Amino acid sequence: MTAKVIVKDLHKSYGDNEVLKGIDLEVQENEVVVMIGPSGSGKSTFLRTLNKLEEPTSGQLIINGWDLVDPKTNLNKTRENIGMVFQHFNLFPHLTVLENVTLAPMELGKMTKEEAHKEGLALLEQVGLSEKADAKPGQLSGGQKQRVAIARALAMKPSIMLFDEPTSALDPEMVGDVLGVMKKLAEDGMTMIVVTHEMGFAKQVADRVVFFADGYIREEGTPEEIFDNPQDPRTQDFLNKVL
Ligand code: ADP
Ligand code: MG
Repeated sequence: MTAKVIVKDLHKSYGDNEVLKGIDLEVQENEVVVMIGPSGSGKSTFLRTLNKLEEPTSGQLIINGWDLVDPKTNLNKTRENIGMVFQHFNLFPHLTVLENVTLAPMELGKMTKEEAHKEGLALLEQVGLSEKADAKPGQLSGGQKQRVAIARALAMKPSIMLFDEPTSALDPEMVGDVLGVMKKLAEDGMTMIVVTHEMGFAKQVADRVVFFADGYIREEGTPEEIFDNPQDPRTQDFLNKVL
């Protein structure tokens, strides 16, 4: 089995601030990896580096067999394959929900208007928002907007989905619906890396939990290993604060 994501000795500095200090991680197809860890430890930087939104300072980065460090690699092609969902959804306010979902695949010539429309409606159904297809983002709740953002990412038919604290900006009563969509996606076999503070989601959905601190992966294991029997004092300390 070839890993979907291979990261070796990845370093990233901003000036003399070294944020990633040598990350090694492999993610297999269909695997769900949940990353937890304190604020400022480099989790977002790591996810952004996986999509080359940030240039790594050194190290190896192979996604779907593409070497992202190789300047000859077509970054647009690799990015189409990696869906990303952020804390803030950044929907286009002047477009309808359905137009937000279908815009990218249509502009990139991946689908005709009819195909994109049909696919877009199916995706909205998948995230429970069929009836909002013609609404504008301003008419939606935060949780609904985030589900549109997930549908929009899925419209590109990615083979990997990266989530960076997708529920952190939401009112508590919206969180469950978004996590529910993500759980279903995981059950359908999507390969996912999820940064979150939702420990319940991590316990329930993760195949593997990775604890990130100070630019390193300090510890990783099954949810049982990490939550019931953490080995690193840093992990123990973090979990004591959040659980
Ligand atoms: P986390 O997501 O775990 O909270 P981040 O990856 O956002 O952590 O940030 C890790 C460190 O990198 C922080 O010290 C932050 O100030 C720094 N950092 C992140 N992005 C940039 C940037 N574009 N320029 C300079 N420093 C940055
Ligand atoms: Mg972050």
